[in-house]
Amino acid sequence: MSKHKKHIITLLPGDGIGPEITNAMKRVVEATGVLIEWEEHLAGKAAMDKGGDPLPQEVMDSILRNKIALKGPLTTEVGKGFRSVNVQLRKTLNLYANLRPTKSVPSPNTRYMGLDIVVVRENTESLYAGIENEISPGVVQASKIITRDASIRIAKFAFEYARKHKRKKITAIHKANIMKLADGLFLACCREVAEKFPEVQYNEMIVDNCCMQLVMNPNQFDMLLLENLYGDIVSDLCAGLVGGLGVVPGANIGTEASVFEAVHGSAPDIAGKGIANPTAMIFSTALMLEHIGEKAAATKMVNAIYRVLGEGKTVTPDLKGLVAAYELKKKGLNAVVLEQ
Ligand code: NAD
Repeated sequence: MSKHKKHIITLLPGDGIGPEITNAMKRVVEATGVLIEWEEHLAGKAAMDKGGDPLPQEVMDSILRNKIALKGPLTTEVGKGFRSVNVQLRKTLNLYANLRPTKSVPSPNTRYMGLDIVVVRENTESLYAGIENEISPGVVQASKIITRDASIRIAKFAFEYARKHKRKKITAIHKANIMKLADGLFLACCREVAEKFPEVQYNEMIVDNCCMQLVMNPNQFDMLLLENLYGDIVSDLCAGLVGGLGVVPGANIGTEASVFEAVHGSAPDIAGKGIANPTAMIFSTALMLEHIGEKAAATKMVNAIYRVLGEGKTVTPDLKGLVAAYELKKKGLNAVVLEQ
């Protein structure tokens, strides 16, 4: 695409470390020469504090108009406060597919070098449908919703992605031995779609075993396909294998718009200290650039980050870790206990 085409993108810097990593990201994008007009808005806690609404209508209008948004992390209080803005965005914009390419970065914190696993998570239902009732004092019920439509749609997304990006294998993750109806339906839909993509290998694994296998032998996986809750948990596990939350990008692809975001939270423990790692935000921006047809700029950005991380000099404290261990790992020697 032309270097001179201007893109209008909604930008939500977010809470906590959000504004810091957003500023770093903007400087990197500027260096690529891609022309972007950022329509910047407050959302989450920052918007709540300012105007009493964590997701003002103008934010939704902007995203719906531009069709693309880039988002920093948004704070959601645990067990109280306003409903998660992330969940609201996903539901309102029908952001049904969550895509997290997890690739090892050259850093002392990287447990496994050379890993490249794409996680595809259904983003709209399961226990995240938010249907909870207090049946009687001390008894609460949460409903897990799995539908054929959403399961077929996410399975199609995963297999089409595999075909387009020449990925070899998809593993559907489930707990259908216990949740025979809900996860059974999810699996049945995955199988149905898999049959239409004979060039992509397909297998299934129970989620607890999958977690162990990911830690013991992650190289067996190419793409993972999961319902919402397992996808949320397993994608963070995958992030831990390749360098941590600070280096993994995410995309929420929807029918109305797409929202790109780092997978980590607002990190209140380090906010304002100037030590937040902007890598995940920059990698998410690269995914966004690819999505809007600016693949050359995206590749340039990713390669530059790999080079900087590989040098290990100008990196944030979370990536400094055990440099000596990293040097040994590079030489293929792993006889080091990797503890922080
Ligand atoms: P978190 O991801 O904010 O932090 C977990 C740990 O990782 C912390 O020690 C933090 O310092 C570190 N960390 C995270 N991102 C980092 C970065 N870029 N550079 C360096 N270190 C980084 O998770 P949490 O503490 O569980 O959640 C804090 C808040 O973020 C909560 O309100 C939660 O709801 C919210 N959250 C938002 C999103 C999102 O907007 N997508 C995702 C997860 C959590």
